[in-house]
Amino acid sequence: MKRQIVREAIDFVCEQEALSAEQRRALEAVPIRWRRRRGASRFYLRAVHGFAGPHILISVGRGSVVRWHTYRRVRAGLVTPPEGVPVAAALHARIALVHELTHAVQHGMCGTPRRRYSEVETTANEIEFVRRVAPEVHVRLVPIEKRRAKPREGTRESRPVSRWAGLSVWLRALLRA
Ligand SMILES: [Zn+2]
Repeated sequence: MKRQIVREAIDFVCEQEALSAEQRRALEAVPIRWRRRRGASRFYLRAVHGFAGPHILISVGRGSVVRWHTYRRVRAGLVTPPEGVPVAAALHARIALVHELTHAVQHGMCGTPRRRYSEVETTANEIEFVRRVAPEVHVRLVPIEKRRAKPREGTRESRPVSRWAGLSVWLRALLRA
C-alpha cells in the first residue's frame, strides 16, 4: 500500500516538474517517515529523528477518512473550504507526499536548481493531483477571491472584487494543466 502511494506521488511530481530518470532516482532516495496521527507533514532538510540528512515526514490522521486542508494561496486559485474536505486516508497520504516531494524539489534534492521555498507551488501541485485522481474531491474546492482592499477613510467604499476575478484565475490554472 505504502509503496503504491509513494509511486503514484513520485510519478506525478516527476511529470509535473519534468524530471529526468536520474532526477527521479534522487527523489526516490529521499527517506520517508510515516506517522499515523494527526499533525503536519513536513520536509526536513537537516538530520533529525535519526535520519542522516533530508527526509520527509508524512502524518496521516487515524481513521479511514481524514480532512484535507490546503494553504490559502491566491496564485493557486482554489482552496479547501474552512471545514476542509473529507478524503480517504490513503488519498490524504498521497496528497501530503505530493506536497512534501515538491518541497524536496524546491530544495534541489534531485539536482534541479534550488528555488524559492514557496507554498504556492506545493499547493498548486496538490490541487492538480487531486483534479486528476479524485475529480469528485476537486469539485469541492472553492475559488479564491482576492481580499478586497480596506476602504480608505473619507473615500467611497470600493466595489467588491468580482467573482469573475477568482474564477478566471481558476480557469487559467485549469487550462494550464
Ligand atoms: Zn509546505
